[in-house]
Amino acid sequence: MKFLDLKPQYESIKSEIDNAIKKVLDSSIFIGGPEVESFEKEIANYCGTKFAIGLNSGTDALYLSLKALGIGFGDEVITTPFTFIATVEVIASCGANPVFVDIDPKTFNIDAKKIEEKITKKTKAIIPVHIFGQMANMDEVMKIAKNNNLYVIEDVAQAIGSEVKGKMAGSFGDFGCFSFFPSKNLGAYGDGGMIVTNNEEIADKVKLLRNHGSSPNEKYLNLVLGGNSRLDSIQAAILRVKLKYLNEWNQKRKEKADYYTSKLGELDESIICPFIEEGYSHVFHQYTIRVENGKRDKLKLFLVENGVPVMVYYSIPLHLQPVMKYLGYKKGDFFEAEKASEEVMSLPIYPELKKEEQDFIFDKIEEFYEQGR
Ligand SMILES: *Cc1c(COP(=O)(O)O)cnc(C)c1O
Repeated sequence: MKFLDLKPQYESIKSEIDNAIKKVLDSSIFIGGPEVESFEKEIANYCGTKFAIGLNSGTDALYLSLKALGIGFGDEVITTPFTFIATVEVIASCGANPVFVDIDPKTFNIDAKKIEEKITKKTKAIIPVHIFGQMANMDEVMKIAKNNNLYVIEDVAQAIGSEVKGKMAGSFGDFGCFSFFPSKNLGAYGDGGMIVTNNEEIADKVKLLRNHGSSPNEKYLNLVLGGNSRLDSIQAAILRVKLKYLNEWNQKRKEKADYYTSKLGELDESIICPFIEEGYSHVFHQYTIRVENGKRDKLKLFLVENGVPVMVYYSIPLHLQPVMKYLGYKKGDFFEAEKASEEVMSLPIYPELKKEEQDFIFDKIEEFYEQGR
């Protein structure tokens, strides 16, 4: 068994994908062009935003959001310490300072109640991360941002398709940043990313930045300092095929999650299944349980030794990463993020995961507890 197997999904749509790739090869348009433009329109439509800009990765989507807003040296950007490194890396790469806020222990998302106390004169933006597939409390985040005149950049890398009251993840903030890394809910067959926004001015700025600051009207006229962050046409063509299935695949993830929870929920008091906030949808990029009473590492070892691949997202909260040492944080600064990093464990979840595989995983977890470990 694999933690994630991408092959069965490809096989289920093989002829469509192969045709889409062939079409691009025949067109000989490999960067930008009609496939990228159509995919941008489809994503904007899917998210309910006016604009979408195709990019080469989720990391650059976050980076260019900050750049387009002019965030740099001396500025502060508030985010969570319980996320993938990219979220924080880009803040530092811009020259700004990441400022962490602890997480809500139930959802693992940034604790909106604790944001305001971290706002200073230097604060320019908040980056909430919709971790594991469930949105952060965006009503609260947007209220705080509005009251304090801050930008909001949503990191939607793990939560494409999740929503609150019909409003899609990515459409709340000034920017929504998506990743199409192969393992994400909408995964390319290579790297890819996207920014969505309703603001035409910053959309145009991102378009400049992704292509060397080149004027859209005149070739080799470079207006601002940019780079190369473009989405390629083959990835766009693949993603267009896959987008049609995204809701169905997300639904399947939810069903697998429900099945896990129905079995694991009653198993042992040390296991806490994912919490879904009232009115929120969870697209289960990860199915992440908490294993309390110091049992996580023992259970993880037992499962791996017994053929159940599990992962820990994330074993080191970002304020304790060597690369972030210069910020001066220490152990104890973010109690909930640190506790989560000691207790979380993600089980295999993807649309094609079989019921028998889930049963096997459950049996092994049950075995661990039956042995009184
Ligand atoms: C995957 C991920 C990213 C980065 O996306 P890439 O496309 O790999 O650059 C950023 N933030 C989060 C939370 C992610 O999970």
